[in-house]
Amino acid sequence: MMKVTIGRSILELVEGDITLQDTDAIVNAANTTLLGGGGVDGAIHRAGGPQVLEECRKIGGCPTGEARITAGGCLKARYVIHAVGPVYKDGRHREPELLTDAYRTSLDLASRHKLESVAFPSIGTGAYGYPMEAAARIALTTVREYLKGHPEIRRVRFVLFGETAYKVYERVLQSAGPEWL
Ligand code: ADP
Repeated sequence: MMKVTIGRSILELVEGDITLQDTDAIVNAANTTLLGGGGVDGAIHRAGGPQVLEECRKIGGCPTGEARITAGGCLKARYVIHAVGPVYKDGRHREPELLTDAYRTSLDLASRHKLESVAFPSIGTGAYGYPMEAAARIALTTVREYLKGHPEIRRVRFVLFGETAYKVYERVLQSAGPEWL
């Protein structure tokens, strides 16, 4: 567990399972259909139950780099923010911008719904193939920038699945240095 203060908010890293988080919202690494899939998407739909899928169906999809919000169903979190990251090809197909947008639009939804705490998985770094360290830099930088301008979001927690992912995020955050905060 690692915790830093950014403005009036807290950014924290934990190793664990995002479906168990008690934040106001958890973010899903969804695909454009919003109809569920493998990885964290499958886990969130299994834990959230039919209400989440039903709301996703009504929304009818989401473009890459955007996000949509549903209720949390059976989850502890009241909401699920479904964010669509890019399928990683070679880094020259706007992957960095699209990953940045996925985080930013998720935070915008949280802010508009007056949510004070949000948990993110490492969007894009599973089936979509985004290299973990590059994704961690984008994820942490984008959240930091956002929190500086949006103190109404009190807490953002990255929930990293497994020690390897956790260590990468920890190293990137540690190497950011104090001027980063
Ligand atoms: P994407 O299609 O965006 O790559 P994936 O679900 O395949 O999404 O993977 C995104 C990240 O989520 C991966 O690093 C994966 O290890 C992680 N992950 C998988 N299950 C969970 C979970 N239950 N909680 C948190 N992270 C998870």
